[in-house]
Amino acid sequence: MDKLIIGNMKMNIVTLAEREHYLSLFKKELKGCSLKETEIVLCPPYIHLETLVKKIPKKVAIGAQNVFWEREGSFTGEISSAMLKNIGCQYVILGHSERRKYFAERDGEVNLKMLASLKTGLKPILCVGENKNQRNNNNVIIAQQLKNCLKDVNQSRIQEVVICYEPVWAISANSPNHLPTADEIMSARLVIKKFLVEKYGLKIAEKVKIIYGGSVSATTVRETCLDSGMRGALIGKASLDPYEFIKIAKIIDN
Ligand code: PEP
Repeated sequence: MDKLIIGNMKMNIVTLAEREHYLSLFKKELKGCSLKETEIVLCPPYIHLETLVKKIPKKVAIGAQNVFWEREGSFTGEISSAMLKNIGCQYVILGHSERRKYFAERDGEVNLKMLASLKTGLKPILCVGENKNQRNNNNVIIAQQLKNCLKDVNQSRIQEVVICYEPVWAISANSPNHLPTADEIMSARLVIKKFLVEKYGLKIAEKVKIIYGGSVSATTVRETCLDSGMRGALIGKASLDPYEFIKIAKIIDN
């Protein structure tokens, strides 16, 4: 499929009852939805992964929000890409700004996670983007993050990677006035594209999906994702409301 909508459910859906409720609403919305060129991916907390793989219709792919780079061993509290793959996960979010902020994750670690995920056959969703103070310099920041996080990712593997431009200051924004304009998002997309073309050549770069994330809703998706030429969206808050999430998916698909 040519486009993507990815739900980053973060650390939500606390109880089993909440999970059942979410699942029944999600399946109901999905029934009335036939997308032509958009794949739906849901990334719940680890603890719900296996249940979602089993209970959500197969046309929806399931992804994790993080991974560790070793396969197995004495790494208390960690989950490996082999474990994720084994229970039926297809995607993994890497380098999200909340992991960088709260868990001091750096590009070097993201790169190790990237290489391990690709080796196992998981598709990485790589988040890049500047914070508020870096806004005027975002081209340099994005290019640097791409260079570091995609180190040693070769031509045959890059096509499996999804790149998500997420300006940190636009995540969970309180008002649409705090979002980047379509032109700003488009210029970030072109920085990413230029990097990919220079590193992998035009033909391969064309195959890499570049998407946008940051307070996307059914009201803002046209300007942020479509007018900017993005091939989809990473959705946080709105992914917790299946009605809104599927509504956004339909807009992206058209
Ligand atoms: C995110 O954190 O990846 C995200 C896009 O969140 P929100 O849609 O809530 O801004």
